Amino acid sequence: MTTKCPRCEEEVKGVTVREVSGCGYGGRSWKCISLNCPKCNTSLGVQINPDAIRKDLLAEMSGYGSR
Ligand SMILES: [Zn+2]
Repeated sequence: MTTKCPRCEEEVKGVTVREVSGCGYGGRSWKCISLNCPKCNTSLGVQINPDAIRKDLLAEMSGYGSR
């Protein structure tokens, strides 16, 4: 299966990852990453930054002991 960029129609073999911020959900802001076509820089998708999820999770888990 190949993935094609919807804009330049090049086959996407890798993506450029950019940090972007998302806001609105739950009234807080989220660290997100945008996966861009390396050729034309069109965003192919955005997701929550996995590093941010891990940090939040660790912070939450370490917080349980003190409650
Ligand atoms: Zn492209």
